[in-house]
Amino acid sequence: MDFNIIAVDFDGALCENKWPEIGEPNKELIAYLKKHQEAGDKLILWTCRVGEILKNAIDWSAEQGLIFDAVNENLPEVLEWMGGDTRKIFANEYIDDRNFTFLSQTDRAELLGRMVDVVEDWLEKKGIATDDEAAIKGDDYDYLTEGFASGMGISCDFTEDK
Ligand SMILES: [Mg+2]
Repeated sequence: MDFNIIAVDFDGALCENKWPEIGEPNKELIAYLKKHQEAGDKLILWTCRVGEILKNAIDWSAEQGLIFDAVNENLPEVLEWMGGDTRKIFANEYIDDRNFTFLSQTDRAELLGRMVDVVEDWLEKKGIATDDEAAIKGDDYDYLTEGFASGMGISCDFTEDK
């Protein structure tokens, strides 16, 4: 498949969680999804809502400009690829307010490296980073990276990969 599939939760993700009502829209996420769909990616609404409140969520999303390629279902391309339907909806990205990611040490190191790059860029823009590596490594490195990991809901268990 030459596109990515994004499965997105509704309550607490696309809107503030006011289930069974609908809270304020998460405009940043909606813009992210629209951008990806315009680029060819497919969107699946992935929610526990059923019946009337599911319809309300779909209608509300359409008012925000979001038309899903599927709702709580796999895409036809996935059915063909998997050789049948799967109970788990397949996606390349799952966006959900209940997400928890437990990264391997390799993935964690890569992610934290990217976060460090962001901090370095930020420091540079602020004119603070005269010695950028030293500015955030050393004693502050663990504090910063663990703080980022915690803030992003990422486990910071330093168990070695097998
Ligand atoms: Mg939710």
